Amino acid sequence: MTRHSEIPPSSVHRRMLCPGSRELESTVIEEFSNYAQEGTLAHTVAASLLEDEILPENATTEMVENAKEYVKIVRENHDEKTCSPIFVENSVSICLRSSVSDSEIVNFGTPDAFYFSGKRNILRVFDYKYGYKTVEAKMNWQMIYYAIGILQSHRAICSQAIELTIVQPRINHVSTWSISREELNSYENLLYISELTSLKENALLKVNHLCFTCKARSICPALRKATLNTLHEAELPIRNDLSSQSLSIEIQLLEHMLDLAKCRLSALEQEALSRLNAGNIVPNYTIEHTASRTMWKYNSDLTELKNYAELFDCQIEKPIEFITPLQAIKKGLPEELVDKYSERKRGEPKLKYIKNTADIFKNTID
Ligand code: SF4
Repeated sequence: MTRHSEIPPSSVHRRMLCPGSRELESTVIEEFSNYAQEGTLAHTVAASLLEDEILPENATTEMVENAKEYVKIVRENHDEKTCSPIFVENSVSICLRSSVSDSEIVNFGTPDAFYFSGKRNILRVFDYKYGYKTVEAKMNWQMIYYAIGILQSHRAICSQAIELTIVQPRINHVSTWSISREELNSYENLLYISELTSLKENALLKVNHLCFTCKARSICPALRKATLNTLHEAELPIRNDLSSQSLSIEIQLLEHMLDLAKCRLSALEQEALSRLNAGNIVPNYTIEHTASRTMWKYNSDLTELKNYAELFDCQIEKPIEFITPLQAIKKGLPEELVDKYSERKRGEPKLKYIKNTADIFKNTID
């Protein structure tokens, strides 16, 4: 049975921005969405491949191909003679301490994969992400959390450097961040203070850009208040004598309002869906099932299908496709050479935000 932490490392980013989210999220029972099911299956496929085990029956071709990329990256620098075995989905306890307090916060987490490289005295931790949103390893608190727990669970191995890698084969993105043991210790202090704040009752609710993925967004009073406030702003009449400065400020404000409104709308839509699923009536709304993309079954015999297709004079294999110029540079092709054979056409003119002043418009609600 899977254990769940009260303060899961996977949502630590949100607790750092909104300490009250821990308490509010704990009151919401989340339905296991298709998206979450896909992510769980993708992780099972990746773990099975990494451990040379039989793949789950419902694995899709796309999942297997992406998992192969992940496995390749994890094994890239792993030398069996000088490295520890690769630990796959190994649960570790994490005990956060601070230099300013005697108390500690006990937690646990499950890193996707890690190993110690004796040759270079490095702990390498890997996180496999199956979503489409780019995630960077730098200052990734979830991975920092894992690194602390792994080092605590393997005290006999004294790694002086830590390498954190996020692998996102679906969007061809790999991000690595290296830190020293001393740096990790200072991050542990920050994590401790943040988690301690979030564990308090009635901690502060702060609307932020991670509200979009917050389980509590349909019931969050702070988000509701911020959305209603901004909608009220949107109703104000547009003046013709706006100075360029005011114009810029209003565009930023409206962009922020749109984000809040989208966030609240998606939360309310989810709530309506779950009420309809439970047999309740939501006036003017019903459930429509959209079909996902049709994929070839991983275990189906595609060679046989190809033979059938020939009978119908139908070509079912794609012609060879080139990877993109950017992917070629990432794979090591000299940039000058790529430049010679590639081009970038000028797109439509678009307003670009150039100064990071948007934060002053973000609502903070007690
Ligand atoms: S919706 Fe936003 S403000 Fe509300 S609890 Fe979640 S993260 Fe905090």
